[in-house]
Amino acid sequence: MAVMKTEELKKIPSKFNLEQFDVAVFAKDKIREMFRTGKLPTADAMAEEVILRAVKEGASDIHFEPTDFALRIRLGYEGVMKKLVSLPKDTAENLANVLKAKAGLNAFEKKKPQEGRFTIILGNVQLDLRISTLPAVTGERIALRILTKASHITKIEELGFSETNLERMKKLYSRPSGLLLITGPAGSGKTTTAYATVNKLNTPEKNIFTVENPIEFKLDFATQVQPSADKTFTTVDALRSILRQSPNVILVGDIRDAETGNLTAEAAFIGTMVISTMLSSDAIGTIPRLLNFGISPYWLASSLVGIAHQQLVRKICEACKEEYQAGPDELERLGTGTWGQTQYYRGKGCEACNGTGYHERTAIQEILVINDQMRDLIYEQAPSVKLKEAAFNAGFEEIRTDAKGKVTDSITTIAEFVRSLG
Ligand SMILES: [Zn+2]
Repeated sequence: MAVMKTEELKKIPSKFNLEQFDVAVFAKDKIREMFRTGKLPTADAMAEEVILRAVKEGASDIHFEPTDFALRIRLGYEGVMKKLVSLPKDTAENLANVLKAKAGLNAFEKKKPQEGRFTIILGNVQLDLRISTLPAVTGERIALRILTKASHITKIEELGFSETNLERMKKLYSRPSGLLLITGPAGSGKTTTAYATVNKLNTPEKNIFTVENPIEFKLDFATQVQPSADKTFTTVDALRSILRQSPNVILVGDIRDAETGNLTAEAAFIGTMVISTMLSSDAIGTIPRLLNFGISPYWLASSLVGIAHQQLVRKICEACKEEYQAGPDELERLGTGTWGQTQYYRGKGCEACNGTGYHERTAIQEILVINDQMRDLIYEQAPSVKLKEAAFNAGFEEIRTDAKGKVTDSITTIAEFVRSLG
């Protein structure tokens, strides 16, 4: 969370009390009357107030859900929802229109999902939001994600890597060149890890570049390039000219196509440390996915040094942490390798954690270090089973192992383990 911004935003007073318009407080007719006579705040003011409240309360998402009788607005906290207010149904369409207009979406398109981003100014703080719309039978459901840019780069030691994984990671990024991929599902903190890694490589004698759109963090020690959204200046264009400027380290945003992938791999092969992120559901599975994109097995085999895969789990709230006896079902879900431990921890739920029992999140990881045998297998485009076998023989540990460690160390709960890994 961007602490600085939140502190500033907390000082901005609300223009009105949202709850007074809740359908549970007012009779429907009365609200309708206010709506007609213009006594309700404008949709624009409503939208701003909802966003302000969400930021002040530390939410990460805002959900506008039309039901049969109302527009339910809920705030999302690290994946858990809490009701903010239920506004009269009449407000749903106006609010949707205002939000869509802000992001330049097509207001008349209500039958297809749309997505975009927009910036609003609250007080003197600029806030970036991502919007997505989903046509539902009761009306358009809109989700906003508050994009908070941290004011500083998190240190790699603070990302939740276990000692073994941190050691593996260090081995990977300390190489003079190669392609290091940071993978994970959407919203798993990949970019944060990528930046923390680049930050580790920062020394005055190095040429460091980043290529991504949008730029997630401003670095004073790197040259940052933002390809344009309209394809007139692409990631590939940027990479080509960076390669003529003797780069030592390049951070490339998401690899999504063969051309970017090949050029990235080529750069890594000819002496640059390239760190890139990619959507993926596990480390080993990333390799067949890249080959499927059309990336040359030769380039990939020659350049890939490792894949750090991650997911986020909620941490137990320290204020209400309690020990309890886990039931046989839970122990079974957790699986073997817990050495007969039956006492585990969970959060009871308190004011500090909004009754959820969790506070903040940490990463669980698996790190695949590519060795010569795996390199040959990539080159031969061998089936995943073969890659897996080679990986486990070389000491690869799955994300489950790391997650289990974080349960036994009482950082997270068995329930959270099951929720994120099944
Ligand atoms: Zn708590």
